[in-house]
Amino acid sequence: MRLQRDYCGAAKKNIQSENKVGPMVRMERKDSMIQGCGPVRSQVDRTAKPLSQQVFEKIRSAGRISRSDVAKDLGVSPGSVTSAVAALMEAGLVREDPRPNRDTARGRPPVDLTIVPEARHVAGLNLREGLHSAVITDFGGTVLAEAELPCAPGRKDIGELLTEIDLLLDRALRQAGLGRGDLAAVGAGLPGFVDYAQGVVFWSPIVRERHAPLRAVLNDRLPCAVYLDNDVNLLALAESWFGMGRHIADFAVVTIEHGVGMGLVIDNQLYRGARGMGLEIGHTTVQLDGALCRCGQRGCLEAYIADYALVREASTALEWDGRVTRSPQQTLEALFDQAKAGNDAARLIFHRAGRYLSAALANTIRIFDPELLLISGARLRYDLLYAEEVLAETHRFSDRIGRSRTEIAINTWGDTVWARGAAALALAEVTDALARDPRGDA
Ligand SMILES: [Zn+2]
Repeated sequence: MRLQRDYCGAAKKNIQSENKVGPMVRMERKDSMIQGCGPVRSQVDRTAKPLSQQVFEKIRSAGRISRSDVAKDLGVSPGSVTSAVAALMEAGLVREDPRPNRDTARGRPPVDLTIVPEARHVAGLNLREGLHSAVITDFGGTVLAEAELPCAPGRKDIGELLTEIDLLLDRALRQAGLGRGDLAAVGAGLPGFVDYAQGVVFWSPIVRERHAPLRAVLNDRLPCAVYLDNDVNLLALAESWFGMGRHIADFAVVTIEHGVGMGLVIDNQLYRGARGMGLEIGHTTVQLDGALCRCGQRGCLEAYIADYALVREASTALEWDGRVTRSPQQTLEALFDQAKAGNDAARLIFHRAGRYLSAALANTIRIFDPELLLISGARLRYDLLYAEEVLAETHRFSDRIGRSRTEIAINTWGDTVWARGAAALALAEVTDALARDPRGDA
């Protein structure tokens, strides 16, 4: 505490004596003020998981694995694995499974460990403009059912959103032959500034209210725990759990659809920023006093490359008849067709958006130096935007002398991946809760 007081005192003095023009504080450091050294941690390292949880997660990530391989991979003694496995088996979370396709004539077949899939079930929901989607998975992460719910575009109030969530969740549960009481947790993702820790939607293009306590409302409504996150964070989680990021500790995902989003995995952990709202690459400023963005700021990247930005440009640049009503999707399709047919104005719109995208991707590489940069999203079919020249320009912007290039990959899996990421969040939370309280109901 004394350290803090000393820092504050020094900072205040600075403001009074030197900084009369604004609130910027210059922190002056005097080594004599500081006691001790090293990062000051306020809590136990969150990555230090109990051995039983590490064993469980090893088995889940392997699918099936022997006790001795678990011990080898985790670098612990076979004895400690045996007792951890005994506790997991007693809790009904793990079971033994003789290895298939082995000649059993010469004694007992080797026994692997697998997750008991029916031990828990979770739901993953992805809420977005125009179409919500959901999956139900078992405890091993296998998708048991998928469902979609087309919905009205635009912002809606929490009451409308809850009605849609009810319909979507029940549709998915019906397909899986399960009820709400069978769920251990629900994960949900939506676009915008979503605070994962508090479960609050500060701003979202699909929610009318600001600072909406959506998790608390859903927790009251559903018989299990609910977890909320930004949808692109959950896309990154999906890549880490099921996709191209499974074997990569540090990677970034950038997605371009209705908005532009980014998710970042550092050392196999999703990075959410200090306030749980980081990595809004779509709302980084690329043009001072530039085009108006949906978030209210000017010059955001999203205002130049998101769907709505292209639609806005299309109507003006192509001089379309204003009396013909087109949905944003129809406008985008028409713009794409025009570009393919060689219309210069249409091509220019995609080319310009592509340049902004290249700069954003290159900035991401420059700042984070990820092993892999994944570009993901349904918009990938607008291949002009993702043409070789965009990737080439990204490399041109970001190449560093003497260093190998960051790999850039395009992932084209379907819309379900977003909901699977939400299910991964629910699975991770249930696993953490079980580690805290193995006899709990999680
Ligand atoms: Zn913005």
